[in-house]
Amino acid sequence: MPQQVDPFVTAQRQLDQACELLGLSDAMQQFLRVPMREHRFSLPLQMDDGSYQVFEGYRVQYNDARGPAKGGIRFHPEETISTVRALAAWMTWKTAVVDIPLGGGKGGVTCNPKAMTMGELERLSRAYMRHVAHIVGPDRDIPAPDVYTTPQIMAWMMDEYETITGRHLPGVITGKPVSLAGSLGRGDATARGGVYVVREASRALGLDLHGHTAAIQGYGNAGQHVHALSGELLGLRVIAVSDSQGGIYCEKGIDAAAAAAHKRETGSVRGLPGTEAISNAELLELPVAVLFPAALENVITEHNADRMRAKMVAELANGPTTPEADDILFDKGVTLFPDFMCNAGGVTVSYLEQVQNASNYYWTLAQVHERLDATMSRAFEAVHRVASERQIPHRLAAYLVAVERVAEAVTIRGWIR
Ligand code: GLU
Repeated sequence: MPQQVDPFVTAQRQLDQACELLGLSDAMQQFLRVPMREHRFSLPLQMDDGSYQVFEGYRVQYNDARGPAKGGIRFHPEETISTVRALAAWMTWKTAVVDIPLGGGKGGVTCNPKAMTMGELERLSRAYMRHVAHIVGPDRDIPAPDVYTTPQIMAWMMDEYETITGRHLPGVITGKPVSLAGSLGRGDATARGGVYVVREASRALGLDLHGHTAAIQGYGNAGQHVHALSGELLGLRVIAVSDSQGGIYCEKGIDAAAAAAHKRETGSVRGLPGTEAISNAELLELPVAVLFPAALENVITEHNADRMRAKMVAELANGPTTPEADDILFDKGVTLFPDFMCNAGGVTVSYLEQVQNASNYYWTLAQVHERLDATMSRAFEAVHRVASERQIPHRLAAYLVAVERVAEAVTIRGWIR
């Protein structure tokens, strides 16, 4: 389902609209529409059975005008250079909208990590780092986890980099295990940041979400954590969740710990006792107060946006909504908080992790939460102000805030005056 629309075409269309409203020059628009650098490489790997497979790897450094490139590495069977470009563009707008001194990048390997052993994954992770070691670094480009990459994978990659350079440089990569130069609070940061955005939005819009319903599409890191946190911090009742195998529904609410345990044991949320089966498509159309898309690109399109009945959409995935669907939802009065603002909690705590690595001094969980909360709340306020003043969707408002900041850095550097 995800790949009918090229995500990079979507990213460029969104950017074009912002450049026009901001009145940026043609040269600036042309520069911001494409990555500054991209790297593609083939990774030969010996599998456990002795055979060899060749994987394709990518690292795109989209824009580093505001600071070193920053963004995750995705291991996914459908990964393409186009997806990586789009994700790298969104990282550029993401670090800008939350105003952290970093640029945007993204990486990936086309592979199926679910079908690989731990040994194979470790060798692939180390091989990936060997290919990018000369272009990454704490002051160049800092990778992190994304879909199907984990703190353990970050630890292997950090170790490989330190072996190559002969130095302790944990800030080369973020999302590391807490026991190995990671930050407290990185694990649930993407979901927590999104929950802070929804909290600020409900305050700004004068809504009390307590006791209202939510649905979550996708049950990886972001989906599982937002399940627990939306109950804990917002009082929302999660009535449906799904993963790539399908979804479950229970009007009384689904227990976050039970759903996570069931997924750990069986590989899916499906079949959790006390719930009914529901399809991913049905879940997206439920009449909930808040819908959290937390999986992959292109799930909200012109084919289903019309039937959607959520009041608010808080995008934890990157690129879940196509431009056509954006227009339909805005016309229907659905308030949508866009990916690169709503899911910026992950990279924000990644940045905090890097700051701690650089000073070799580590903070408490409360300190991390406080800084994350302040950053997300400030970003929401800046975007909401523009959306209200101009009467435009929050996605476009977020683009205006972010693109203006990146363009300003490009101008001040003297690249395009
Ligand atoms: N992959 C995450 C994202 O899309 C985190 C990136 C990071 O921490 O650098 O925002």
